Amino acid sequence: MIEIPLVFDEPPQKKKAPKHLADLSPAERKAWAAQLGFQPFRASQVATHYFSHLSNKPEQWSDIPADQRETIAAALTPQLIELVTTRTTDGGMTRKDLWKLHDGVLVESVLMRYTDRVTVCISSQAGCGMNCPFCATGQAGLTRNLTAGEITEQIVAAARACQDGELPGGPTRLSNIVFMGMGEPLANYSAVVRTLHNIVDPNPDGLGISARSVTVSTVGLVNGIEKLMDEGINCTLAVSLHTPDDELRDTLVPINNRFNVREVLAAADAYEKKTGRRYSIEYALIRDINDQSWRSDLLGRLLKSRNAHVNLIPLNPTPGSKWTASRREDEAEFVRILESYGVPVTVRDTRGREIDGACGQLAAAEKGKE
Ligand code: SF4
Repeated sequence: MIEIPLVFDEPPQKKKAPKHLADLSPAERKAWAAQLGFQPFRASQVATHYFSHLSNKPEQWSDIPADQRETIAAALTPQLIELVTTRTTDGGMTRKDLWKLHDGVLVESVLMRYTDRVTVCISSQAGCGMNCPFCATGQAGLTRNLTAGEITEQIVAAARACQDGELPGGPTRLSNIVFMGMGEPLANYSAVVRTLHNIVDPNPDGLGISARSVTVSTVGLVNGIEKLMDEGINCTLAVSLHTPDDELRDTLVPINNRFNVREVLAAADAYEKKTGRRYSIEYALIRDINDQSWRSDLLGRLLKSRNAHVNLIPLNPTPGSKWTASRREDEAEFVRILESYGVPVTVRDTRGREIDGACGQLAAAEKGKE
């Protein structure tokens, strides 16, 4: 069998991102601190400030000698992301942040407060190499993989914004994390798995957020799904299927030429068996492309005996694109047919539309200004 790599054709990098505590396991953090000439336990102290207190104010780290705080903080937790712009909508309950990385690359994250939870949607790559024709990010191609530090920084920034009461409604806790921003998470496998540990590991090694509240969304990299289920992290899996037939999926999600619908669903089933987690099927409804009743019927037949839930996403049209959202009546019929098979369906709310909510749109808009 041909081994398909878990990192896809990343362009060569000019300059590596600075190393950060969040790139490493707790044991590696200690060894690294020692290499840098600090006492190894400083790594645990800094991890406590970073993950448990969400503090980026070394002047307040009173368990570290005052004359060493800045040096240790700069060495172990260098600033990896810098805020360029924030756009808000829904009365401030949805906020999209655009971040600049050390090499000028732009990525985005979206923070959404609901009545019962606060979710951040983060980017795992700058751009994306999966080339889905309806997606703004896919059109720009892959710039580079993010490091675990760069991904984790988006999450810690969101958790800090919640703690500091930056969203209307006062201070709160970040409860959910979805890997649905720019990029294909499983094409940046090791950085994403390190990040998952940073999320679910208990304080002070990580943020201590339940794996149940973390969703990794993939276009269906079967080898990545198979590897992820053996990590013992047990986060929720979302598979972007977008159509139940290989003929259309070969175009809509080009990786289907490597991993077809049958193989992707088999991998998701195996993931569900191993982890006990129901998976979700993401389906962007695109007018006259994949929203016909026969496709809903085929999807219903494929899923009726699987432990899966369908999340329909009304497509957020990108400027100048021929791809647009389905008509209301077609969407309703699509839902009705799926439900007739007993398949649980939700239509995702389209928060963030007014702020260029589709992945990659804000970064694309910002680039256009240069
Ligand atoms: S839809 Fe997702 S996987 Fe496809 S190109 Fe866009 S970001 Fe990549």
